[in-house]
Amino acid sequence: MSETLIAELRVACPNAVVWDGAELASRDPGFDGRNFGASALVRPTDTAGVAGLVKFCAARGFSLVAQGGRTGLAGGAATIAGQIICDLGGLNKVEEIDPFARTAIVGAGTPLGTLQVAAAVHGLEPGIDLAARGSCTIGGMVSTNAGGIMAFRNGTMRHRVLGLEAVLPDGSVFSDLTRVLKTSAGYDLKHLFIGAEGTLGIVTRVALRLDPVAGASATALVGVPDAASAQRIVRHFLGQTGTRLTAAEILWQRFAAVMAKMLGYAPGQLPLEAPCLLVLGLGADSVDVAQSALEDGLAAIWEEAGIIDGLVATSEAQASAMWRLREETEMIERMHHLPPSFDVSVPGGGLDSYVARIEAGLKEIDASFAPYVFGHLADGNLHISINTDGPVSHALHEAIEDVLYEGLNEAGGSFSAEHGVGLEKRDAYERHADPVKQALARAIKGLMDPGNVMNPGKIISGP
Ligand SMILES: Cc1cc2nc3c(=O)[nH]c(=O)nc-3n(C[C@H](O)[C@H](O)[C@H](O)COP(=O)(O)OP(=O)(O)OC[C@H]3O[C@@H](n4cnc5c(N)ncnc54)[C@H](O)[C@@H]3O)c2cc1C
Repeated sequence: MSETLIAELRVACPNAVVWDGAELASRDPGFDGRNFGASALVRPTDTAGVAGLVKFCAARGFSLVAQGGRTGLAGGAATIAGQIICDLGGLNKVEEIDPFARTAIVGAGTPLGTLQVAAAVHGLEPGIDLAARGSCTIGGMVSTNAGGIMAFRNGTMRHRVLGLEAVLPDGSVFSDLTRVLKTSAGYDLKHLFIGAEGTLGIVTRVALRLDPVAGASATALVGVPDAASAQRIVRHFLGQTGTRLTAAEILWQRFAAVMAKMLGYAPGQLPLEAPCLLVLGLGADSVDVAQSALEDGLAAIWEEAGIIDGLVATSEAQASAMWRLREETEMIERMHHLPPSFDVSVPGGGLDSYVARIEAGLKEIDASFAPYVFGHLADGNLHISINTDGPVSHALHEAIEDVLYEGLNEAGGSFSAEHGVGLEKRDAYERHADPVKQALARAIKGLMDPGNVMNPGKIISGP
């Protein structure tokens, strides 16, 4: 991009930070090395600034890619030369928290962790949590329909958003900052932007529901023979009164073992020998109550669930060691370069048979394949990384997908649970999503963004 164009961008977006391609190349692109392939980055400070940038791009024929925290795992924020990044980092503000109505209005560039801290002052929380909380933004989470640790209880981002504001591809502003749960006033168009990965507009402000935060919490690591046993434990705690199950994360043995090794845990530091490990979070009025409820609850269901071993954390350090096992998943990337990774939803009680089937199917492709499997147990969302360096060939990737996605749609599951489609799952979308749904999506994209200004080539291929 010429110096003249960069200068024109500075004039069109007077209050914004503007970086050229050279500046971008010298910066950290976040979780995807392709994020900073663009020719320029513009960081406006408000909705009007975003609208000005969009109008400039629409008039000059540039395509625009919105970026928040750059923690996305589906390549949705990847850019190429000639494109311009709209960085939402300048819209980083918790504008309002209404403790009575339990709602928040936030700028799209606000990190989740910032909102969590601001809401906690009022005894509230956003009701959604994920390991990238320090960097991922509310706008990015809306745009990928993020799920995370608490989705089994509170739903995904789609269920937390009450209203939103977005700049459309022609620069006009869609404004629906509804703050009430009940509104039945025609088509609920905000949902078009949730999970759209920036292909239909740029989300600038969001109205969210908040929930009361538990006074304290306790963590346990429980060893079980299989996922069915872990699910029995979860049902038990969900049925308890006076406490609140806040997390139920599952780690298959191979994943837990490699994580413990990479994190440098001493042998025996945590009970990690069972075929499946369950990390449980329980909220209550005090730490003592939460710990006792975990101990008593596990004792009550020990035999029925076939529990092999278990440990209730007695210190924050011990709880943190349990959570690091589940959350510091970039350790897998230190073992393997760009390992092929997947994110599926498996319905009902089918987790054990699903894992057994994919273990066998992957071995048929390559006898050395042994997947790392972990995820959000209570909503059946499994993350799967293959123990090989990537990127693998297109044919091999498709063969792995065929094993992983076989029968999922028919059973009511999903080939993309919470990370989105972006570039990574675009082929899978074309092969596995309902053709009528795809045609409708293409028609909506054509109607809203005829010039293909917004994040072209993501989710839907071609112009
Ligand atoms: C360690 C780790 C753990 C994770 N755990 C989870 C998890 O448990 N659950 C889960 O759901 N995800 C998880 N993720 C994925 C990721 O954090 C989420 O997808 C997150 O929602 C992305 O937010 P972001 O601000 O980083 O978005 P980015 O990566 O910047 O962008 C993601 C997509 O959203 C678009 N976008 C960003 N901001 C806007 C905007 N304002 N308007 C329109 N489009 C926009 C981008 O164009 C891109 O398509 C994890 C990621 C990491 C690295």
